[in-house]
Amino acid sequence: MWAYQLGEPQGVPQWRRVPVPPVGPGHALVRVTAAGLCHSDLTIMDLPPDRMHLSLPMTLGHECAGTVARVGEGVDPAWHGAPVAVFGPWGCGDCRACRAGEENYCVRSGTLYSSGKNLIRPPGGGVDGALAEYLLVPDVRHLVRADNLAPHVAAPLTDAGATAHHAVKQVIAALDDESVAVVIGLGGLGHLASQVLRALSRTTIVAVDTNRHVVERAQDSGAHYATSDADEAARLVHELTGGEGASAVLDFVCLPGTRDLILAVAGRRARVALVGLGGADLSMGFATVPSGLTATVTRWGSISDLAGIIELVRAGRVEPQVSAVAPALVEQAYAELRNGKVEGRTVVLMSDVAALEEGAAAG
Ligand SMILES: [Zn+2]
Ligand SMILES: [Zn+2]
Repeated sequence: MWAYQLGEPQGVPQWRRVPVPPVGPGHALVRVTAAGLCHSDLTIMDLPPDRMHLSLPMTLGHECAGTVARVGEGVDPAWHGAPVAVFGPWGCGDCRACRAGEENYCVRSGTLYSSGKNLIRPPGGGVDGALAEYLLVPDVRHLVRADNLAPHVAAPLTDAGATAHHAVKQVIAALDDESVAVVIGLGGLGHLASQVLRALSRTTIVAVDTNRHVVERAQDSGAHYATSDADEAARLVHELTGGEGASAVLDFVCLPGTRDLILAVAGRRARVALVGLGGADLSMGFATVPSGLTATVTRWGSISDLAGIIELVRAGRVEPQVSAVAPALVEQAYAELRNGKVEGRTVVLMSDVAALEEGAAAG
């Protein structure tokens, strides 16, 4: 089968011919129909050799929609042929976090930066991922039915959607109808978080993004106000809250500039969700943040977040902005993502994989 693989640290990923993985007991083999492209794929491609703890070569991609092509021994055969979205942050299923339904925080799982051996890694983040004709899923508990959803809509819900839903859930208790919530970064995740906030709360949403075109269209994502200027955002929040400050801030960027924006807009008792992989630290102390502030570093979403966002999309209350591309255009699509040219999410349609054959034959 074809798989888009990173061969070495900081190398250029390529489509390669690899064997279809064997299906063991309890497994499901998913024929991939659509795979989403995420900023964290770029983070993986950029890891220098001394920080690359994922074994290579590895198939990229952690946002997968598809149909179940084969199931292993012990799996309910009713899964066969089912349209599914694949929950990505695989864990052990057995630790306290997993048993609490928060497998995204499994103590035996590894993040991009974890160096430990024997950690459970997600697809495209340590084991072969979704940018391939087939994805091997180690347990059917990671499958969520995606009936009546187009594959290019379902795929980005597995990370962009579930992660945005999870971030909103971390702050929602602070949001009454007098509150203001600030969404920083209206990209693949932020444009969904803004819509989830609108669907699940009566808060006033202020969106901030450096891309002016995105700001102009922010109302489509549910934002009440939007700006590309951080000072303007701080003034707006001050005005809207009579100086109290925002009750929630969701940062999908996490660079030094957005960290400063959090400090400029957050009010007392604010809840802050740090989601982006920008790497800026938020230091906390009595003198540095408003009292009562709670900050959470989130990782992905839980299986109930995935089910929740699927439900909101099915109900028409959240509408992902998606551009679909053919497999042959993946490299170009990643370049556009890197240059900040993508609005919403880019999804690769694996049904167009035959074109790679023709390209290979011609080459
Ligand atoms: Zn991602
Ligand atoms: Zn676990």
